[in-house]
Amino acid sequence: MKESTLQKLLDSESVVVLTGAGISAASGVPTFRGADGLWKNYRPEELANYQAFIRNPELVWGWYSWRRDLIKKVNPNGAHVALVYFERILNNFFIVTQNVDNLHQRSGSKNVIELHGNIMHSKCIDCENIYFDEKTYNKELPHCKHCNSLIRPAVVWFGESLPLDALKESQKLAANCQVFLSVGTSAVVEPAASLPFIARERGAYVIEINKDETPLTPYADEFIGESVEEYLPELVHHLKTLNLK
Ligand code: NAD
Ligand code: ZN
Repeated sequence: MKESTLQKLLDSESVVVLTGAGISAASGVPTFRGADGLWKNYRPEELANYQAFIRNPELVWGWYSWRRDLIKKVNPNGAHVALVYFERILNNFFIVTQNVDNLHQRSGSKNVIELHGNIMHSKCIDCENIYFDEKTYNKELPHCKHCNSLIRPAVVWFGESLPLDALKESQKLAANCQVFLSVGTSAVVEPAASLPFIARERGAYVIEINKDETPLTPYADEFIGESVEEYLPELVHHLKTLNLK
């Protein structure tokens, strides 16, 4: 990253980072589109939707139980930790995440907006009562204690709307930030994919960090084709050096 960009980050009145599955890949959480995204030969798109759950709730619940167990065993990596430092030194720093793994919060970030829910929470498909306790989600296939309907993971599935408050808040943050970073996301899942474009239209400097190019790449002011777990800690090091000057 150019020194002028580092200075821009330090001088910005507001910085927003959009994160995706790529930031948790080094922790051992498979991305959906990566080579290890499959479970029992199912593609995530075949399981992460309401119709699939109604058709075969045991199968979909089983997949989520497997993912919850996996996520509970892993730890945040250097990229998550770097963003905790960002929050400490940058002005009005916010993370908008498409991840459901809770790893930003576990690493210590405070300003986190979850666009796609949290895999550790569950909710009733009818009365929408939310269950935060582990006892509920560790059961084979739990039923709601209020209305006895099925309980599903409290995440946003393909074809579903995002929580309106979280979406509005992130659109507002994107529209008002001066630097927008897109980190480890394939930039194709809407409406999150539009956030860097909202920022860009309003004059923000858009930086993309992804090991592969994405549909956003041609529109980014700067593209950094590296692994986030290697690059973000380096960036922290440079910011610290510059901040001390
Ligand atoms: P994605 O799987 O579509 O894309 C991940 C992106 O990260 C890809 O562009 C890939 O090139 C990049 N990437 C992978 N490893 C990287 C690394 N080490 N460094 C830099 N870049 C790396 O994920 P998405 O765009 O976030 O969207 C898919 C949806 O799946 C999301 O809505 C999310 O809710 C869900 N999801 C969440 C998790 C999680 O919570 N950890 C994991 C898988 C999927
Ligand atoms: Zn209920």
